[in-house]
Amino acid sequence: MKCPFCGDEESKVTDSRSANDTNAIRRRRECLSCECRFTTFETVDISLQVCKRDGSYEDFHLEKLIKGLDAASRHTRISRDQVRDLASTIASELMESQKREIDTTKLGEIVMEKLRTLDTVAYIRFACVYRRFKDVDEIMDAIQTITPEEVKK
Ligand SMILES: [Zn+2]
Repeated sequence: MKCPFCGDEESKVTDSRSANDTNAIRRRRECLSCECRFTTFETVDISLQVCKRDGSYEDFHLEKLIKGLDAASRHTRISRDQVRDLASTIASELMESQKREIDTTKLGEIVMEKLRTLDTVAYIRFACVYRRFKDVDEIMDAIQTITPEEVKK
């Protein structure tokens, strides 16, 4: 990242947070050469096709992922910042995997695994929606796969 003041290429990140109302990550940087501080905004650029259950395709949208995560994490300890970070992490990992397409089931599993490490309630909620549980038994199965350690958190 080039320093806007002296043009030096070397800078260090002093702070990193989600920018409000956008999906960008805001980073405060300090130039290692002139020590001036500046801010950069990083967005995820991802071109990935999501294969839906009915066989049709749609573009992967980070906003959509964030919306789903937001809904799942409502009234849990997961903050909006965490939701955005989580979505960015998932998108980055997908980008790094260099996949051109992914099906919704696989995407859902990736999301669920990540949510599970953050908050059990959000995990179950997302799992219910994502797997479209048909009956209570299926929900109970999902709950039973959660270890006591995870519930205590
Ligand atoms: Zn500089």
